[in-house]
Amino acid sequence: NIFVHEMPKVELHAHLNGSLSVNTIQELGAKLYGSKSEEFTHLSEQLTNFDNVDLGGCFEKFDFMHKLTSTRRGLHLATILAIRDFAKDNVAYLELRTTPKNTEEMSKKDYLECVLEGIVRGKELHNILVTLLISIDRSQSVAEAEETINIIPKFRSRYNNIIAGIDFSGNPNKGNFSDFKPVLEKAREDNLKLSVHCAEIHNPSEVDEMIEFGMDRCGHGTFLTDQQLHKLGKQKVAIECCLTSNVKCSTVAKYSEHHFRNIFTSESAPVVLCTDDCGIFNTTLSNEFLMAKKYFALSKPDMMKLSLTAVDHAFVSENVKRDLRRIIERYFDSEC
Ligand code: IMP
Repeated sequence: NIFVHEMPKVELHAHLNGSLSVNTIQELGAKLYGSKSEEFTHLSEQLTNFDNVDLGGCFEKFDFMHKLTSTRRGLHLATILAIRDFAKDNVAYLELRTTPKNTEEMSKKDYLECVLEGIVRGKELHNILVTLLISIDRSQSVAEAEETINIIPKFRSRYNNIIAGIDFSGNPNKGNFSDFKPVLEKAREDNLKLSVHCAEIHNPSEVDEMIEFGMDRCGHGTFLTDQQLHKLGKQKVAIECCLTSNVKCSTVAKYSEHHFRNIFTSESAPVVLCTDDCGIFNTTLSNEFLMAKKYFALSKPDMMKLSLTAVDHAFVSENVKRDLRRIIERYFDSEC
């Protein structure tokens, strides 16, 4: 366990508002409201059974989180605390993702700027490399997505080393991928990398359409057919597998049946381990490796392979990848 905890890890699939643990939400609540306030007591009561979720329930939890991060102060603090928690778990490189929102206090542009500033501060405080994927929520309108894509260029030069790409996510039972193709195409023309939540539920025709459109990484990939997996593998698209998230949301019946096993052992496509929403699902990236060790007999060389695969598919420059590989290889050389 210590070996896995201390292992320098690479996290490629983490939604900001899903990444705050119960303890961290309480810490955030105490800072925002004061620990003796009625709001804080109410918040603590709502956190009982927080990680008891299914796929629909997890989207309700996000609504709860979104209230806490609807102010500049809440969002800035939440970004720093999420980064701190990943750093505590020895994540060396974190690709955080979040959906810019219009709130009472902030426009989407303010929201994005606040997260970017939080990342700058979090990196300084916690000695971790962090970049951002900007999420498009499929349950919202295409106009919302366009608004999001249109604000990105304003930040590209100032935060060039932080903005890494786009994430297509949101409740998979809502919205149609085809409606979002023009806006995602525009992002691609702007040289933004793309990770798509794909095959999180059974929807083979949509998955075909997503694969044909193309992506740099695939989130979840739970219901990919062998043929679809093979196509992604040929295109060297990595599958971001989130074991605990899928089991808790019941899109996968149990850990031992997780599609990670087949992809990893068959080497049909590159595969990485991620947390998805470590706060809501009460996990950490270390815990995801431990689950893979328990259920799939993951060895130390397997862990090294997974970490290096994550580096290969991270949305960063070759120089950064070289540095990350060095950190990982040094750890395994000294520990194995
Ligand atoms: P945020 O973008 O920082 O607000 O993080 C929460 C959001 O991420 C949710 O409202 C969803 O849009 C998205 N999200 C988090 N987990 C999942 C998932 O498992 N599937 C699809 N979308 C997700």
